[in-house]
Amino acid sequence: MAIDRITEPWSALLDAGREDGRLVREANEGPGRAKLVELPADLHPDVLAALARMGIEHLYSHQQQALQAATAGPMIVTTGTASGKSMCFNLPTLHILCEQAPARALYLYPTKALAQDQARALAAFGLTKRVRPAIYDGDTPREARSQIRKSANVVLTNPDMLHVGILPNHAAWAELFSNLAVVVVDEAHVYRGVFGSHVGNVLRRLRRIAAAYGTEPIFLLTSATIANPLELAERLTGLEDVQLIDADGSPTPRRRIAVWNPPLTDEALGTRRSALGEAAELLARLARDGARTICFMKSRKGVEVLSRLVKQDLQESHPELAEQVEPYRAGYTPQQRHALEQRLVRGELRAVITTDALELGIDIGELDAAVVVTFPGTVASLRQMWGRAGRRGRGLAVYVAGEDALDQFFCRHPEDFLERPVEAAILDHESPLIYRAHLLCAAHEGPLSRDDGEFLGPRWEAHAEALQSAGELRRRPGTILRESYVPGRPGGYPAAEVSLRSASPDSFAIVDVSSGELLGSTEASRAHATVHEGAIYMHQGRSYEVRDLDLERKRALVAPFDGDWYTQPKSETDTEIVRLLDRRETLGVTLSFGEVSVTDTVLAYQRRRLSDHAAVDIVALELPPTSFSTQALWFELPDHGVLAARDGEDARDSSAPLPLQTLLGALHATEHAQIAVLPLIAMCDRWDIGGLSTNFHPQTGTPTIFIYDGHPGGIGITRTAFARFEELCEDARRLINECPCASGCPSCVQSPKCGNLNEPLHKAGACALLGQLLAAGAAPALAAPL
Ligand SMILES: [Zn+2]
Ligand SMILES: [Zn+2]
Repeated sequence: MAIDRITEPWSALLDAGREDGRLVREANEGPGRAKLVELPADLHPDVLAALARMGIEHLYSHQQQALQAATAGPMIVTTGTASGKSMCFNLPTLHILCEQAPARALYLYPTKALAQDQARALAAFGLTKRVRPAIYDGDTPREARSQIRKSANVVLTNPDMLHVGILPNHAAWAELFSNLAVVVVDEAHVYRGVFGSHVGNVLRRLRRIAAAYGTEPIFLLTSATIANPLELAERLTGLEDVQLIDADGSPTPRRRIAVWNPPLTDEALGTRRSALGEAAELLARLARDGARTICFMKSRKGVEVLSRLVKQDLQESHPELAEQVEPYRAGYTPQQRHALEQRLVRGELRAVITTDALELGIDIGELDAAVVVTFPGTVASLRQMWGRAGRRGRGLAVYVAGEDALDQFFCRHPEDFLERPVEAAILDHESPLIYRAHLLCAAHEGPLSRDDGEFLGPRWEAHAEALQSAGELRRRPGTILRESYVPGRPGGYPAAEVSLRSASPDSFAIVDVSSGELLGSTEASRAHATVHEGAIYMHQGRSYEVRDLDLERKRALVAPFDGDWYTQPKSETDTEIVRLLDRRETLGVTLSFGEVSVTDTVLAYQRRRLSDHAAVDIVALELPPTSFSTQALWFELPDHGVLAARDGEDARDSSAPLPLQTLLGALHATEHAQIAVLPLIAMCDRWDIGGLSTNFHPQTGTPTIFIYDGHPGGIGITRTAFARFEELCEDARRLINECPCASGCPSCVQSPKCGNLNEPLHKAGACALLGQLLAAGAAPALAAPL
């Protein structure tokens, strides 16, 4: 549009991108007009007065719908970024607190920073007589705690604190539980995977304890746009008939969307100019052309490097602008964060470069441009980040692709991603290890009895019996109906042994020897592969080198690392099918889902240069095998089926056996491609998934590919993949088919976490194999065998 060219500070940049082909896709969003409604007259007069003081004369239509829905039962709101979602739960909550003096509300936030923001937002209503919010988390001073328990009527906390601090001490919180009217779960899409499976149990324990004190709070949830908001809300809370509020009544700016792919530097190898260098150029240009920009990156180190590159670029031509570029990371104090946010809002900063610390809901107002560097893992996050662009009704949202498979796939099919929410937030509160850990916590909070089926699900007693056999629970006799289970070891504190961020209590501590600080922990099943001696370990975007892995004391000693390499473990994996749970014939193969036992032996690790991924050397390790049980899907290929998967070169005599290396390479590359695209179906990281392919599996007797959940017990990822296997094959085939490389690259079949160091891989073979499966699916259905 001509007007566009004249007025927008990003027009020149887009013109340049169009010219040299780096701008691979453009789209427009919005503008959308606001749907405003009158303030409801039946809202409590104090709340109405507060809104008047704040200058709010109307509501958006979805806020009014939420207000109505909240009187009827649980609900989840999934409108866009900056659509005023918090009003959707704040208004009903404030109304209730003003109406009923003793009523209490509990707000759950995944991070402390978000809880602080919400406390500020609540304070802004100025309802100091009626509303007394307080943050209760690990930073709350001891001396303030009992006062909060007594007098705060909105407690803002996180699920970890609820799990380990509040529920086990419910007697001290009797005031809260006996008056608990509302539970708010903001940013609910964060509760997926392992974390979500835990939080699903914590919320059930919360409902159970509330019921013991005679209350049944309403649950008000919000989430980013995902494929399955109702399912997420129901799985998290265990409640049914959740209402969905998704018709956004807030105005949306006119937003130009730009997908930017760094140019190829070597077509055959599939290497591209780095996304970081590309982003630096974009940011400097936007700064010079007058746009206020926010840029998102995954790693803290990336944030530092990118800030430096942009400043350098600007230093020569516009030294005054170089001063207005700042990095922003997690780990700042609230004061530092606030100061930076203020500079941003006031326009004293031209560009801020951040990890996702700013992604979740924090109020910094809107900016001209939002630049996202490399795929953040889910379209939901990408959209949230893009939602920052749109100051004064217009904005630019850019995505700069990296070389990873998912990035390049996205670049080729942006419309697939942008037109529909593709990912579902997956969690499984009944994943056995997680469920049983929380059942123990629940027993500690109060004896388990028949009535608990309502909160803990119909199968709780079977799990309780298993725990009784293990000596963890004890059956306390009573009449048939009053029989109950109590902890096997009185005086224990089971919640302290359960981390909500890990699938198994069996974990290794990771300790920074330079500071003595405990960085975190890793599941025991992954420790050998991730924190073996010499491993480069990433934690919150920082690199550490593992100095020692102490198997006896279960800890890894690490030190900050600044070198130019990363490591990749080489391991040998076996899978054993333990129990078949489901099976179907599809695409000409037998597809199964069930429990497997995965045994891993880490044999060595390879060091690779960061700059070009070149292998530096390989170092042998001596580690015992580890095993864990989990869920998996696997599919068996008939021998003759794989024969047809040969590539052109071998096709002269189709009856001759396929060279073993080609067969193995085709299976292996297929497995990698499927794992690479699985996050498009189930919100997860490729690091959450493992795979194994073999030309002969002793239990199936045929060539078989396994894809398994990387967490002990499994959290539902492969169950979803089993149900949507056809999509998985289709996406994997497109990923490989469309990659311009000659014989496999990091953007298609190579995997950064392959235990075989990406050997052997046969791109053409995988392509033929997947093509054959999909052709079998497309062929008219044959008569089903009887
Ligand atoms: Zn490729
Ligand atoms: Zn592999």
